[in-house]
Amino acid sequence: TQKVTVIGGGLAGSEATWQLAKRGIEVDLYEMRPEKMTPAHETKELAELVCTNSMRSNQLSNAVGLLKEEMRQMDSLIMEAADKTQVPAGGALAVDRDSFSQYVTDRIRSLDNVTIHTEEIKNIPTDGIVVIATGPLTSDDLAKNIQQFSGSDSLHFFDAAAPIVAADSINMDIVYKKSRYDRGEAAYLNCPMNKEQYETFINELIKAETAELHGFENSEVFEGCMPIEVMASRGYKTMLFGPLKPVGLEDPHTGETPYAVVQLRQDNAAASMYNIVGFQTHLKYGEQKRVFSLIPGLENARFVRYGKMHRNTYIASPEILSASYESKKQKGLFFAGQMTGVEGYVESAGSGLVAGINAAREAMEQEPVAFPVETALGSMANYVTTTDAKHFQPMNASFALIPGLEGKKIRNKRERHEKISERGLESLAQFKTTVLD
Ligand code: FAD
Repeated sequence: TQKVTVIGGGLAGSEATWQLAKRGIEVDLYEMRPEKMTPAHETKELAELVCTNSMRSNQLSNAVGLLKEEMRQMDSLIMEAADKTQVPAGGALAVDRDSFSQYVTDRIRSLDNVTIHTEEIKNIPTDGIVVIATGPLTSDDLAKNIQQFSGSDSLHFFDAAAPIVAADSINMDIVYKKSRYDRGEAAYLNCPMNKEQYETFINELIKAETAELHGFENSEVFEGCMPIEVMASRGYKTMLFGPLKPVGLEDPHTGETPYAVVQLRQDNAAASMYNIVGFQTHLKYGEQKRVFSLIPGLENARFVRYGKMHRNTYIASPEILSASYESKKQKGLFFAGQMTGVEGYVESAGSGLVAGINAAREAMEQEPVAFPVETALGSMANYVTTTDAKHFQPMNASFALIPGLEGKKIRNKRERHEKISERGLESLAQFKTTVLD
């Protein structure tokens, strides 16, 4: 069997490496950090989470919940790490970010058949079996080379990260612990606002100064990760229907539902840091401190990390890739992660899982395979490789990408989604025994 090269030790590259190694393949993993950092990464560890510590829903009525379960069935390292390092977050799966990346790093370092090289790769290797998983912040030289390779303009847009505040700087006389409708454990801290406070806040937020954008032609905003100041400018009530929605969050101090609520989510196991939910932002740091300190309970907040905004590079996958994530142009060259147009931590790891398995097949002289479209894993690969290239946009796991159920329509959405998930897991189990094994 041939050796495989994996470039990029993020969510996708770590998972791909794991899937290869556990199939007995020798792997050379190239990760440029800490020699060279990206604008968002802060550590030297593999699989660093650059923004929120939440991996979103953990339930089978949600497509990303299905994706997680499929990955567990496929013995995913990213899921194992997430399950082992989780912190309370109601129906979602959130992790202690440091323990999470440490876990992944330790597991990969302990593998005899994996060699980790701290090195930036500047060009796509022209032969051998290679998985490129360098993410939305791929270094400039490699990004240029990929752009040349793909023969069409790689697309990019903006992505934003939310600020994190120190727990001991939050005013607990005002802030209260509660999850919406008291579902699950009380995992969130809530900052209540009355109408007057909301008005002052939104007015200051709209006026606040944003940081300069470097190296971008347009400022297209990705809807799923919209900066809070952009949302505020869309209309007086937009935030009240979004991250500042108060419903189900009565204030125990007054027994009433506040006019608006800003939620804080625990960011590490020690509960010493909280992130401001939905507050991805591109405001200047000083402005973030000034405006976000207007949030009741955060008047003396210490910002452990400010919100940021960054480039997001992804290739024209519909033209370049097949559903095994192998390039149509160069046999043995695979792409994985956010740069293929899947969106999100779990999705990126999921594509790394599929690409890793297929690279292993190639190394063992077996044909690469596409996962069934009934599965979340297969439906994402299908989406990124068959969408109209002109309108191609990164996409989260979604039931909209999976074919509907045959027979009588189930009216209840939750029930319908659970059935689709059940079918997906059956389909995966069958695929495992008949195709993969
Ligand atoms: P990454 O995890 O970024 O891994 C790529 C790795 O490749 C990095 O370690 C990098 O150092 C390395 N690398 C880059 N170039 C080279 C090179 N030339 N040679 C060697 N190594 C290289 N998703 C969410 O689900 N939730 C969020 O809140 C979220 N917030 C985000 C915020 C920002 C600022 C960005 C940029 C993205 C965010 N995403 C978020 C999207 C996406 O899920 C993550 O970026 C995710 O980490 C992508 O996984 P990946 O494996 O594709 O890339």
